[in-house]
Amino acid sequence: MQVKFLKSLVETLVNKQAVPIIDLLIGKKHVNEFLIAKKLKLTINQTRNILYKLSDYGLVSFIRKKDKRKGWYIYFWTLNIYQSLNLLEQNLEKELEQLESQLKNRKEKRYYLCKTCSIEVAEETALINDFVCPECEQVYELSQNQDTITDLEKNIAKLKKEMEFVISERKIEGEKLEKKKDIKIKKAETKKKEERMKKREIRKKEKMDEIKKSGKKAPSPKPAKSKPKSKKKKI
Ligand SMILES: [Zn+2]
Repeated sequence: MQVKFLKSLVETLVNKQAVPIIDLLIGKKHVNEFLIAKKLKLTINQTRNILYKLSDYGLVSFIRKKDKRKGWYIYFWTLNIYQSLNLLEQNLEKELEQLESQLKNRKEKRYYLCKTCSIEVAEETALINDFVCPECEQVYELSQNQDTITDLEKNIAKLKKEMEFVISERKIEGEKLEKKKDIKIKKAETKKKEERMKKREIRKKEKMDEIKKSGKKAPSPKPAKSKPKSKKKKI
């Protein structure tokens, strides 16, 4: 996935300081938080605060291990690409909605401009002000909406493209996750089967031992009964 999008997401959700974390986590698994702190030149607490915020959004997850020497826990962090893409899509969708409503307004409503102050107001506000700018008392001019409309349309097209990209990336990541899940399930099934076999072996052995202890011979093929001597066939 494109790092650029992910970084802008982190900046929106946390802050600019958190952005370089993405470079440290992307393409890796279980990254030691002390390493992250060192690379970012932050204290471990500052680093953890950022990581906790990201984990609130599901962007990262952790495992923790006890440091046997020092007796405390160390957290190891992993980026959740799938969830990141989900969040990205949601954010882009919000942005898109805003732009589309702006575009609708531009197409349907009139706006007025004070050229001196470079302030633009909606028609309702202009009406309240009697079409005179309250700052400089200049009369408002009707805004030429066309440029704004063109800009908005450009931005909307760009956002839509980004969204398509994010959705297709999310699909790929989703499929990867499904595959991993399948592998996990299969592994678990094989393990269960192996355990069943082991148990069966153990039970078999126990039975054999029991038989040995009780002095009985292990079941062996029944000795052939001595057949009564066959009567001589009468000739
Ligand atoms: Zn003005």
